[in-house]
Amino acid sequence: MIAREQAALMSNYGRYPVEFVRGEGAWLFDPEGRGYLDLMSGISMINVGHCHPDVVAAIREQAGTLINTSNLYYTEPMVELAEWIRDTSMGGRVFFCNSGAEAAEAAIKLARKHGGPERTEFVSLEDGFHGRTMGALALTGQPGKQQAFKPLMPGARYVPRNDKDALRAAVSEKTCAIAIEIVQGECGVYPLDDDFVRLARQLADEHGALLIVDEIQTGMSRTGPLYAYQDAGIEPDVMCLAKSLGGGFPIGAVTARPGIDAVFQPGDHGSTFAGSPLACASALAAAKLLGDPSLQDHVRKEGACFLAGLQGLVDDGLAIEARGRGLMCAIELAEPRGADVVLAMMERGFLVNNTSATTVRFLPPLVITGDELTNALNALRDVLNES
Ligand SMILES: *Cc1c(COP(=O)(O)O)cnc(C)c1O
Repeated sequence: MIAREQAALMSNYGRYPVEFVRGEGAWLFDPEGRGYLDLMSGISMINVGHCHPDVVAAIREQAGTLINTSNLYYTEPMVELAEWIRDTSMGGRVFFCNSGAEAAEAAIKLARKHGGPERTEFVSLEDGFHGRTMGALALTGQPGKQQAFKPLMPGARYVPRNDKDALRAAVSEKTCAIAIEIVQGECGVYPLDDDFVRLARQLADEHGALLIVDEIQTGMSRTGPLYAYQDAGIEPDVMCLAKSLGGGFPIGAVTARPGIDAVFQPGDHGSTFAGSPLACASALAAAKLLGDPSLQDHVRKEGACFLAGLQGLVDDGLAIEARGRGLMCAIELAEPRGADVVLAMMERGFLVNNTSATTVRFLPPLVITGDELTNALNALRDVLNES
């Protein structure tokens, strides 16, 4: 399989040496039937768990009825999903796309049109992540990811997370939008301070810029609330969703608060596949599951418990820092052995990933049980003890 993959696929991914053929809840199974407890959810892409029966049923039903029509016509699942996003977030209308990067691109175009020709600058965060297409990459403040692709979209400025003075200095009358994640995911789970998020809100208001909150990884109850901004005490002007929105099926969305949601007019933006009945039926099934307050309570409770467990490893000198919100967690190692820890965990049947040589990240499906998380913590303790 590895040789075939190398001969047939471009080399842009470094995959782990395992193949999966089946999934169920928090479990993935290899061709021999060995189960692995998934603590990644496809990078927070399948928060409902693998092959959730409600999602499977919705996809089956819709696939046999109508798969796609393009955006030339009306279809109800799209309207119903947009109503759900509108009514659970800022009350504004929705644009659909097919991925996170596309959601970031749509937000960028919306902000540029809203700002007009004089406001062309974006302020985003160092170590942030908004996607890998050229516009989204320009907001992704990671030189290593940008280097080979310069020149990028001009006008992007980066400030360190939680640096209020740097944020104040960067935002001006030229800023069309400030773009943030409430918890920076891709660089290793770094939550923003609430007062930094509130300052971003305040500066956007003072300068007539938009506040774009990228909830692609943090959204869909990953951190506890349906959207992470809801715990930070602010409302964005524009929110990006993707990843778990579709219950595993590709879909992305951008919503903007009322007024801002009128920026796009016919012809300004679009996508042939976007908002298909199939993607929206899958997303509607996922929305019912992930919008359930009892699931959100489970995320808060088990997330706090898991983070306390990680902190226990720190207290015992096995790691140097534990970070997390809800079931979005990471542990920082003193030595650059993150990749080894991931492989050792995999040998024991647990899937985690490392976002750097020293950071191991945990994004389990939200349906994972407390006992399963305890088993993962015990395995991690064993792995860290073996050095
Ligand atoms: C994954 C991610 C994206 C990009 O989503 P894709 O679907 O991979 O294009 C953007 N922003 C954040 C915060 C993400 O985690």
